[in-house]
Amino acid sequence: MPTTLFSDIEYLKGVGKARGEKYRKLGVTSPYELIYHIPRDYLDFRTHVPVAGAVLNEYNVLKLTVFRKMPPQRIKGGLVICKAAASDGTDDILIVVYNNVYGFQALREGETYYMYGKVSGNFLRKEISSPVYIKADEQVLIQPKYHLTQGLSVNMIRANMQQALEIMRREPFETLSPDILRKYDLAPLMWSLENIHFPESELAAETARRRLAFDELLKLQIGMSIMKSRSRRSTAYKMDPSVDTDEFTKGLPFELTDDQKKAVDEIVSDLCSSVPMNRLLQGDVGSGKTAVAAAACYFASKNGVQSALMAPTEILAVQHFKTLSGFLEPFGVRVSLLTGSMTAKKKASVREGIEAGEIDVVVGTHAIIQKDVEYRSLGLVITDEQHRFGVAQRAALAEKGDYPHKLVMSATPIPRTLALIIYGDLDISAITQLPKGRKPVKTYAVTGKLRSRAFGFVRERLDEGRQAYVVCPMIEESESELFAVKTYAENAAKGDLKGYTTALLHGKMRAAEKDKTMQLFRDGEIQVLICTTVVEVGVDVPNAAVMVIENAERFGLSQLHQLRGRVGRGGFESSCILITDNTTDDCVKRMKIMSSTSDGFKISEEDLKMRGPGDFFGNAQHGLPPLKIADIACNMELMNRAQVCAKELLEDDPLLEKPQNRALKMDVMRLFSKDIIG
Ligand code: ADP
Ligand code: MG
Repeated sequence: MPTTLFSDIEYLKGVGKARGEKYRKLGVTSPYELIYHIPRDYLDFRTHVPVAGAVLNEYNVLKLTVFRKMPPQRIKGGLVICKAAASDGTDDILIVVYNNVYGFQALREGETYYMYGKVSGNFLRKEISSPVYIKADEQVLIQPKYHLTQGLSVNMIRANMQQALEIMRREPFETLSPDILRKYDLAPLMWSLENIHFPESELAAETARRRLAFDELLKLQIGMSIMKSRSRRSTAYKMDPSVDTDEFTKGLPFELTDDQKKAVDEIVSDLCSSVPMNRLLQGDVGSGKTAVAAAACYFASKNGVQSALMAPTEILAVQHFKTLSGFLEPFGVRVSLLTGSMTAKKKASVREGIEAGEIDVVVGTHAIIQKDVEYRSLGLVITDEQHRFGVAQRAALAEKGDYPHKLVMSATPIPRTLALIIYGDLDISAITQLPKGRKPVKTYAVTGKLRSRAFGFVRERLDEGRQAYVVCPMIEESESELFAVKTYAENAAKGDLKGYTTALLHGKMRAAEKDKTMQLFRDGEIQVLICTTVVEVGVDVPNAAVMVIENAERFGLSQLHQLRGRVGRGGFESSCILITDNTTDDCVKRMKIMSSTSDGFKISEEDLKMRGPGDFFGNAQHGLPPLKIADIACNMELMNRAQVCAKELLEDDPLLEKPQNRALKMDVMRLFSKDIIG
């Protein structure tokens, strides 16, 4: 049987078992996947410099004629070094190749090559080590740079790639119609795949990448939309719109903001529909999503339906449990906690309560949707800080019970255009305003020189009865010069924070220990929490009014914003001090944005402008299928076009069942795991 695009990669000419294993390490299992092993960048051999002009200790492209190869030398540790003398007429240079006898053998005396590698030495004696090379008479001087693995060189990948493309050339296919190609100004697929690997010119490479990035964005959009329409089966929990939530909202200690009210209305209306709700509740930290979730639980319980609220960590589960009980128990809604660290006996008793329908709202970690928990009538599933749950998990949740309604809450505001892709399987409610009277957190960016003054300020606030966080990027000291919580805490206890109670909190601590520390902090027994980003998500201690972030350059805008959201949650004037000695433009800009705005949507807009959408896609937290091209090559314009195109395609053919869309559908299924799209 001839090798096809979907045969095992081993059967590709020149691959075989051993190299096949190496390809598998790169996630490449078939010629098709090899073709989609897209170069991260290119090496432009046209930019060669004379040896005499090579920049020492940097990578250079040289045009060299090999004049003498020396026999391989074996040195200790089994390492083999091969050397050859070469020249370009301006100067001589030594080519040094480590542990690649095979690659070295291919070099011929008397032959001229373009070589790319790090040049070292001095002006008397230069060497280039382990260069990538092509023959000087090669037609294409722009060569791809691939993500490699040990034992798999660029040259091998290039040779195998030619083979794979050869197979595809025999039966080329196209996923988009000529109309779409024309309308969106896209190059044909076959041409694009050839030119992404072996571009005729820079422009060709760019044009190819644009097409392939468009494809990926389109597939993503379509996949998400199909998931959305698939979850539109009818739910067993169509609720009664005449049930009133007024009693609940009037009983709250505050008036809901307009956005909160709107979100509650949208949710209630979803809950009364016969298709399950599939909604994202987006709102900045502190915007009051929990109160909205509580209203939803209230409405469900008055409809005789159970709710489950799932948090990513035990700390947050406990906190939500307390908040929700506080909101709901006065109305006779029974709330229980269920987490992994509870005793077996206690868990069993909660499970019984759930089964008997004596519990209306269960709060916990993902343990609450495990098989051994039998709900009497689970009709509403809420997940908090949903960016920790992936698309696949969302889909799995939909299958639980009789298609319950789902609400996911995210405190990571995302610009709408992007949200439409990343959360394309969901409807969106957004809370864009903070409750009245909330004072923005005053933010200052300073250098390390001002550290002791900053701590003077922290001590003042502590003396007034407030509490503080100090955030460091690392847990343990390492070779990097970043601050680590462990040593930082020791030093602070003897120095800047002498006489104050401090405690450590980081991700490597046992759950019970973390919970205990958080509890002590919440109770005010601990004044300063010295922590890593574990405090990033959802922690709510209103008395904490100061945060110091060390090595602030290490954190992205959205992350800084998340961290900062831990303070300013009570009525107190609050501050955030960013300490960094980094003076790169990028860092300075981030610090400026942080000090000038506290609007999470604005910050994510800026983040998008600075880093491009790729970083949002690449962020594993969204749980999107991994993108290979769009994460580095897309821009807003392309994203918007792909969005329009997806919409048009789906309007015409919602499940991509028409023959002309078959190839595209296959592609969508390949991007998503098959069990999601089905
Ligand atoms: P988040 O959206 O970050 O989850 P929370 O739900 O934890 O925010 O709310 C933050 C704080 O604001 C809580 O202490 C909550 O009780 C309070 N809160 C929520 N809504 C309002 C409101 N409309 N007016 C005043 N305070 C509110
Ligand atoms: Mg929250």
